[in-house]
Amino acid sequence: MASLNKLNKINKPNKKFFIKTYGCQMNFHDSGLIESGLLKNGFIKADSAGDAGIVILNTCSVRDLADQKILSELGRLKKNGPDKKIVLAGCFAKQVKLKKEAGTDKTDAGLFFDYCVGPDEILSIPDILKYENGSAKESRNGGDYKDFGLLEEFFYDKKPENGAAAVKIIEGCDNFCSYCIVPYVRGRERSVPFEIIYNTANEQVLKGAEEILLLGQNVNSYLSPEDGKKDFGFLLNSLSDIPGIKKIKFLTSHPKDFNDGLIETVCGNAKISKEIHLPVQSGSDKMLSAMNRGYTRKDYLKLVQKLRNGCSDISVSTDIIVGFPGETGEDFEMTLSLMEEVKFDFIFGFKYSPRPFTKAFKLKDDVLLEIKKERLERIFQKQKEIKIASHL
Ligand code: SF4
Repeated sequence: MASLNKLNKINKPNKKFFIKTYGCQMNFHDSGLIESGLLKNGFIKADSAGDAGIVILNTCSVRDLADQKILSELGRLKKNGPDKKIVLAGCFAKQVKLKKEAGTDKTDAGLFFDYCVGPDEILSIPDILKYENGSAKESRNGGDYKDFGLLEEFFYDKKPENGAAAVKIIEGCDNFCSYCIVPYVRGRERSVPFEIIYNTANEQVLKGAEEILLLGQNVNSYLSPEDGKKDFGFLLNSLSDIPGIKKIKFLTSHPKDFNDGLIETVCGNAKISKEIHLPVQSGSDKMLSAMNRGYTRKDYLKLVQKLRNGCSDISVSTDIIVGFPGETGEDFEMTLSLMEEVKFDFIFGFKYSPRPFTKAFKLKDDVLLEIKKERLERIFQKQKEIKIASHL
């Protein structure tokens, strides 16, 4: 593999680095850890990619469009700075690795980067860059979050921004929604030890944070790995007791794991944010089943109702995918009608795009692009109408 061959030839890198981040809050959080780890190891932050000897692209791979953008950026970077060390990191990097292993990589991405580091290995980036032959990549155990102490160590150097700090509590996902590449690129679910989360949050509060954002692909399934007893509700309540914490937010919740106990915790604790992001993806049971979401339309509606009964000030946002394989006009109308029923405070909408390794990748992508675009516009229009009506 190109990256591994180059790994053994590295010259001492320029110490200035620049990180460009794509995608979600998890990636921005990971970039913060990479930055903190690099600064700790004597590297210097550059103001721009042009000024840096090392450029790290911390990438996303959730949608096809993201892949295209990253490939163009890689080509541009190597053309404008052939001597720069390029680190391709994050989910797209993992996708490239997996495809190379499977012999299915059709891109020339490997020509444009020096290191390819999946999201499960990002904590090893300082070591990879520090040692001339890059052998630390194999020798240090921090990359895959097995050494959670390294996570804590890097985090301790981070400072809150505008009084807020994000703390990762769980990595990976076991849900295998049929369209989603996350379980393949970020790996199986593993919770960060309770003590590390608590200490990290406490440290951030001592440095001035008043708000903590807990991050994970599915925060609701958090379970302390030390004893298998402390669940997400326990974590929320424990953190809220840290003196100085004013607000705890969390992202993302899976509807199937938002149980009654958690509703009680969220609604009963004034410090816990009432802004709940609850991805529904579709209003059609047929689609929800094909997506392997683990709940029905009725379950979802019941959950929203319980949340609203529990806390009057709750706000619910969601993600919706249009044009999943087999989605008929009737299925799509079910999504519009669900929006009508729930009256979301905010929606994020996406056109389905097939992701490699997923179950849905094998299905025929049979909804035409024009129809996907039209459906996407219609959900945004519907949301606009709902918001206008709510202000009348
Ligand atoms: S819950 Fe589903 S959509 Fe979310 S990260 Fe896991 S597999 Fe992907």
